[in-house]
Amino acid sequence: MPGKAFLTAEPFVPDRLTLAELPTAVQGCKGCDLYKYATQAIAGEGPSTARVMLVGEQPGDREDREGKPFVGPAGKLLDKALEDAGISRQEVYVTNAVKHFKFEERGKRRIHKKPSVGEIEACFPWLGGVRRLASSNCCVSGRHGGARGAWQRSQPDAASRRILPAPEWSGGHRHRASLCRAAQ
Ligand code: SF4
Repeated sequence: MPGKAFLTAEPFVPDRLTLAELPTAVQGCKGCDLYKYATQAIAGEGPSTARVMLVGEQPGDREDREGKPFVGPAGKLLDKALEDAGISRQEVYVTNAVKHFKFEERGKRRIHKKPSVGEIEACFPWLGGVRRLASSNCCVSGRHGGARGAWQRSQPDAASRRILPAPEWSGGHRHRASLCRAAQ
């Protein structure tokens, strides 16, 4: 019996990827099955000089329709957390562990469905590619372990594998200065 195909975005990530080309390049990815159902892939967004990268789990329904990261309810929460921390959205790089929206249809609604470990692993080459292009050396992730694991594997050495769980810096516990110190 033939073995199960190994899922990976690796063949779809250009050797000389640039942040400017990323949104177009990721549209051609067939590294896992999620591209079959989503409207489009959602690349990350932010300057190459960003010191902090925020990694969510996956794009949501709004992001899938509008083609931009963190524009739905999660984006509103993010904007509030950044505002509380005194950080501009233009100062950080935002992206997700997987670039396509995973969902199940219930009537006319599309309900978020958690990506599998295999799908997060498959999408990792995109995160790794961005990590090489952006100067960020600190990650803020949600509670999900997949995004944190993907971030850690994207780091060139253990010293730069710093992760701040989102609850530690949002909600008034962290502000701009402490986050910037962590990103140094
Ligand atoms: S989720 Fe990632 S690996 Fe899967 S098809 Fe989309 S971009 Fe490729």
